[in-house]
Amino acid sequence: MGKVVAAAVTVVSLAALGGGAAPPRAGGGACTLAPGALTVDDLPAGSSVLDCAAVGRLVTHAGAGVTVPGPGMKVSVDALTEDGSLHGFTLAVAADGTVSYGDLTHADTDADAASAHARTSVAPGRARAACADDAYATAGHKEYDTYEWFLGDGTLPGNLAPDDARRALEDAIGTITASRNDCGFGDTVTAKARFLSRTGNEADIDRDARCMARDGVSVWDAGDLSGGVVATTCSWSRAVSGGPDSLREADVRFNTRDHTFTDHPGEACSNTYDLRSVATHEAGHVFGLAHVGESHESQTMYTNSFACSTAARTLGRGDVLGLRSLY
Ligand SMILES: [Zn+2]
Repeated sequence: MGKVVAAAVTVVSLAALGGGAAPPRAGGGACTLAPGALTVDDLPAGSSVLDCAAVGRLVTHAGAGVTVPGPGMKVSVDALTEDGSLHGFTLAVAADGTVSYGDLTHADTDADAASAHARTSVAPGRARAACADDAYATAGHKEYDTYEWFLGDGTLPGNLAPDDARRALEDAIGTITASRNDCGFGDTVTAKARFLSRTGNEADIDRDARCMARDGVSVWDAGDLSGGVVATTCSWSRAVSGGPDSLREADVRFNTRDHTFTDHPGEACSNTYDLRSVATHEAGHVFGLAHVGESHESQTMYTNSFACSTAARTLGRGDVLGLRSLY
């Protein structure tokens, strides 16, 4: 691996010496990165992961982070937070090693979302609103084949037995692949998923809800994430010419250290998240949907999740249209 990187750096350096169309670099000169976690300012858009020897380094932005992938790969982190603040961004590395970012701007706390979050049930009329709102956003990747996923072998959200957790998650993922909704929209979405087994592998997500280097296995599990984070999805995809990137792996972790989940939110529910609602939202990220923001609270892909609400278990009009645009 070291030899490959060194050779590639030589090629880029020669191109620069030759006065050709070398990519711009940080600081305009040789790229030397300080040790430790980097920020997006240390590795700005337009810099080269080859020049900077940045593959495998951690890059953070506004409380989120990703590990720099190799050329031709893209990694996205989406952290669902309890206070409505949004932590997520995308780092893409072009085939020539050039870095670009997506979604660097929306990390501010959204006060309206935070106050809306305090509701413990969904306002009457949600169903009608969900079926009238056609807003959606896509992340630039899709699953071209079948999303094959594993369940971690540790403690599961809601302390569910493995079979129960598998059923709940399978149902949530199935809501995305079958574009299930209460609006009467037929399913024209061709997305596919298949549960494989439990695994000793873990979601490649660290305690600060940052995407680590991927292990090639798509795992849904539970663990410790930053306090305000309810769940996090990391997705990795490879560039496809003329189309959305092709998903290679997507991991999901539920924060069971700081939050409680249930598969049966009832009347007495308080401060507990409906597992299937959160899982459906995360599955939306896996299959290439991005967030819709303020005034789109009725959509499953709204930026945050409402405690005790099961509304996100089924899709809104915008969610369905987003999936149809990809599949
Ligand atoms: Zn999200």
